[in-house]
Amino acid sequence: MVLLDGKSLANEIKDRLKNKVDDLNNRDITVGLAVVLVGEDPASHLYVSMKKRACDYVGIDSYSLQFDENISEDKLIEEIEKLNSDSRIDGILVQLPLPKHINTDKILSLIDPAKDVDGFHPENVGKIVTGLDGFAPCTPLGMVRLLEKYNLDDLRGKNAVVVGASNIVGKPIAALLLNLNATVDICHIYTDNLKEHTLKADILVVAVGKENLITADMVKDGAVILDVGINKREDGKIVGDVDFDEVSKKASYITPVPGGVGPMTIAMLLENTVKSAKQKV
Ligand code: NAP
Repeated sequence: MVLLDGKSLANEIKDRLKNKVDDLNNRDITVGLAVVLVGEDPASHLYVSMKKRACDYVGIDSYSLQFDENISEDKLIEEIEKLNSDSRIDGILVQLPLPKHINTDKILSLIDPAKDVDGFHPENVGKIVTGLDGFAPCTPLGMVRLLEKYNLDDLRGKNAVVVGASNIVGKPIAALLLNLNATVDICHIYTDNLKEHTLKADILVVAVGKENLITADMVKDGAVILDVGINKREDGKIVGDVDFDEVSKKASYITPVPGGVGPMTIAMLLENTVKSAKQKV
């Protein structure tokens, strides 16, 4: 069994991006990412500070816009529109979740698709589904980069099974795996007999948020396992959705949690932001 080491690959990618940003800066071109945060959710604040630190490392100018929980939808729209027309900004990220009184879909679809480095705008979703060059969402794109790194990205004749069908992870990774020529099953809460599906998987992606959802009896020998889940135990330990200790005995490749898919997500946010800056030039 081989561990798919997202932490090392993310560091490698960040170093490559740092060189690219240096090159752009030497040509007097700056790279800027705006992160919009509404409210006081501690997890969101933590994610935003991690993103800022990663930007600092590669030399991307990060602009952090923090708003009160009660900001009106109209005011937030006004702020997004300002960022859309600000030439210093190459990427706009709205940290989710937004408060309930704000229509998340409306806000995400107002971001200029050319600056939509999170890949949530319907135009980019459409491009990814049709196989055109758009911004793919960061977590799914990070998984593709991991498959590429370990030469696992030729999926002709392979069965890929995705468990979880969110707009952020499940649906876009299914589209990307299909673009890599896999035969893809997507499972969700209404799927009957999950095990029947997972047992067919040469590549199994699990993105649900439920500890031990996938046990060893549900996995084919030699499968490649990408565990996206993040679950915090009472003792503070972070674990994925897959029973790592048992499943890793059957898998050929598996992502650890933490240190697998997670670090790749931020690296891909930076990659998309640099891509946006290069497209502007
Ligand atoms: P989400 O929006 O809650 O989606 C979860 C999906 O799983 C939904 O499609 C849901 O179906 C489905 N589901 C729920 N219970 C199920 C079950 N028992 N069997 C099969 N499917 C089931 O979550 P998400 O944003 O995709 O995130 C999923 C997990 O990945 C979370 O733990 C999250 O923290 C983690 N995550 C990690 C990263 C990273 O960078 N590592 C990034 C994003 C997310 P219904 O919608 O029908 O209920």
